[in-house]
Amino acid sequence: MISVEEALEKVLSYVEVLEPERKPILDCLGQVLAEDVYSSIDIPPLDNSAMDGYAVRAEDTRGASESSPRYLVVVGEVAAGSMPTKEVKPGTAIRIMTGAPLPEGADAVVQFEDTDEVSRKSSSEELSRIGILCRAKKGLNVRCRGEDIAAGNLILEKGTVLRPQEIGVLASLGHSATLVIRRPIVAILATGDELVGVGQPLVPGKIYDSNTYAIAAEVSRYGGIPRILGIGRDSIQSLNEKIGEGLDADMLVTSGGVSKGDYDIVKDVLAECGEIGFWTVCMKPGKPLAFGVIKKSVGRKKRKVPHLGLPGNPVSSMITFEQFARPAILKMMGKKALAKPTIRAIIEGDITNTDGRRVFARVMVTRRGGQYYASLTGPQGSGILTSMTKADGLAVIPEISKEVKAGDMVEVQMLDWGEEQGEASKLPIVAIVGKSESGKTVLMEQLIAEFKKRGAKVAAVKHSHAGMEIDHPGKDSWKFSQAGSDAVCISAPDRLAFIKNVARELNIEEIPPIIGSEFDLILVEGFKRSIVPKIEVHRKELGDDLLCSPEELLAVVTDGSLDTLVADNRRPPVFRWGDTATIANFIERNFLRAVS
Ligand code: AMP
Ligand code: MG
Repeated sequence: MISVEEALEKVLSYVEVLEPERKPILDCLGQVLAEDVYSSIDIPPLDNSAMDGYAVRAEDTRGASESSPRYLVVVGEVAAGSMPTKEVKPGTAIRIMTGAPLPEGADAVVQFEDTDEVSRKSSSEELSRIGILCRAKKGLNVRCRGEDIAAGNLILEKGTVLRPQEIGVLASLGHSATLVIRRPIVAILATGDELVGVGQPLVPGKIYDSNTYAIAAEVSRYGGIPRILGIGRDSIQSLNEKIGEGLDADMLVTSGGVSKGDYDIVKDVLAECGEIGFWTVCMKPGKPLAFGVIKKSVGRKKRKVPHLGLPGNPVSSMITFEQFARPAILKMMGKKALAKPTIRAIIEGDITNTDGRRVFARVMVTRRGGQYYASLTGPQGSGILTSMTKADGLAVIPEISKEVKAGDMVEVQMLDWGEEQGEASKLPIVAIVGKSESGKTVLMEQLIAEFKKRGAKVAAVKHSHAGMEIDHPGKDSWKFSQAGSDAVCISAPDRLAFIKNVARELNIEEIPPIIGSEFDLILVEGFKRSIVPKIEVHRKELGDDLLCSPEELLAVVTDGSLDTLVADNRRPPVFRWGDTATIANFIERNFLRAVS
């Protein structure tokens, strides 16, 4: 059995970024730009007005106010789309609409609301003169030529994934077509004598072919073009024939016929005309997976078509598609972010992992109080396709975890998120751990001060083995606790305290939702056994050893050296004790929620 990572690496090593094609910009959504795009024009092309109002000379408005308006002679009007024909000379103004070019001489626009236009109109006064009711600074309500895009500049870089906004920018430059990496064509073949196509009568012993449709929809979703080959029967001849029809595609995805049954012959076909062959992957569901390269002669050239043979069970085929076919499609499209977006969530049920494979459990994800929770969708059989319809995520249970208990933190791949969403939703939490007297508290103080200086909102959590006393005997809050209330909240104009009795000590992951989601960073002192990211403070006078194993640590802060203590390949980043700015930079890069 090979690991999920090894299998993925193999698959990716057999697919290449495809060639570019030029097409209409509206057909390029989600594709990768294959050329640098420069602008040949300024946007906006001329200085123009950001408001409906009067184009004026700023100096003419000096001293203007509601009580002492400055009156200017209105010499004309200019609307968006036309060019001004007159100049604004001292003592004059031109009525101007949003987007209209600024007339010669004018250097500011006073919006209608700051003139006496409305009162003039209601009293049917002439608009040949206008009262300016406030002082306008130079540049007020003026959009400068080229302030968005300057001619000659690089506007969109090769490699950019085109979203609606990039397509808008291309249009603003006047481009109707652009060069993008083309979409891969993915041929899809279902296999099995038991399969009947949708729309056909269902006779005894048969089932409808659902994999073709689920897979084709996945191909489309990730940007490929599905080509449906239909249903291949469980015979070498039928499969060879059908596979032959799919060899013009950039990739062939089959389902079924890869396990150990008598009729599971996809792997035999692959062994005959392909490279590599059959694997089992250390995952559940989805253990049997065939992968190979089918060779095809085109004239005198030989073409190689990557073939991914997914297991037949509908859930297995979808999950293996997500893990292997999706990244292959994205790579062919020229994308760089191939990993499924993931979050960390608290699991709300137990999961046992009986045979040491990586488990992908279907879960429903909810967000409460700034924390994600994942609950199982119900029966997890690999034939139960409705478990996928209920799911919005796959909880990934590592091979080495024999059991995950409710309340544990797990990684969840989000099924419906775009690539860009995962990272941003990581909890901004980091724990400072270390032996007693190592200086955890001092480092906490230094970091808190440093992050405050950087403008971040910081919460600090302290682990207290010994229990605590904060609602002091005799105080009202204490009396309420004594009377039996399970929680007491004290609210003052500038602070809030919340004291809650708990039946067991909470996991650190359960605490952020209680603290609230407004903080850019949660610094935790202690919780050395938790699985939140940890930085260990190491003091050489307390011995050469670390409290945690190096693999668990994100970094070490030390006044000594770890050279003798940890092998190079296991050593996390090491920072000097006292170098708070560098430590803070490291935390900021990895954890700080983007300060907006
Ligand atoms: P196989 O890997 O071919 O042994 O198939 C495993 C299970 O998945 C069997 O119960 C098949 O009936 C089922 N299966 C295979 N292909 C499909 C398909 N295209 N649609 C729905 N179920 C399928
Ligand atoms: Mg079969």
